[in-house]
Amino acid sequence: MCTTRIRSIDSRLGLYSIAYLLAALAWRHGSCQAASVSDERIRRFERLARGGDVAAMGQLLLERLRLGYLSRDRLELAAHLNDPAALAALGVDPSGEPADLREWTCALQRWGRPTVVRALVAAGRTLQPSRAPAANEALLEVARTWAECPCTPHAQEAYEACGHAEQGNPFESSASSVAFHVAHATYVAGFNQGPAGGTSLQSMVAIVLRVLREGGRSPDEVRRAVQRELAEWALQARAPGTDDAGAPCEPVW
Ligand SMILES: [Zn+2]
Repeated sequence: MCTTRIRSIDSRLGLYSIAYLLAALAWRHGSCQAASVSDERIRRFERLARGGDVAAMGQLLLERLRLGYLSRDRLELAAHLNDPAALAALGVDPSGEPADLREWTCALQRWGRPTVVRALVAAGRTLQPSRAPAANEALLEVARTWAECPCTPHAQEAYEACGHAEQGNPFESSASSVAFHVAHATYVAGFNQGPAGGTSLQSMVAIVLRVLREGGRSPDEVRRAVQRELAEWALQARAPGTDDAGAPCEPVW
């Protein structure tokens, strides 16, 4: 396992347990004794996990699953993205990744269109300069917002942001072009077909990936960025019952 990967897991350990799990244990069991037994177990896993023990990281994820701080769906998404802790938790081997990046990205639709858009935002960010122009940032932000809250008003915002961007020249650089297409993909995803008519999310994925390639990003680089961001998002600690991103202002699925 590469050190970057270990570091990224390590930085997430804080999310894996202690504050959430201990509070939950006390609440669930309503007894200090039961809490202290599990508490001990968790502390042991945490110690091992801090030492880089992937099996222990997997056990911590299973504890969170058991306590309702992580959904099976999200754990499966992280495993699909070959997150080592999630693979250990589910006891599965790394999934074979389709060589074709478009196919791989579109397969994320199993976790909903917002997940595909979230992937496109992560992909789009690989092409932004360290100080991305505000216009690019605004386009990626409407996409991220819709991925968090996939309602019609937020899809409409993405549509309007694209209209606004088109008054300038959104294609003047690869960075601005990719940001524009990510926002475009968002309203296509949000309206299912999109006011543009007939454009599919799959074809928008292909366009975004093509712009990234033209901008000099290798498929591997894009895939790793998407894997890292999505797995981190999928495994974030959440209070039980709020698994699917806060409270959508108008849920559509
Ligand atoms: Zn919304």
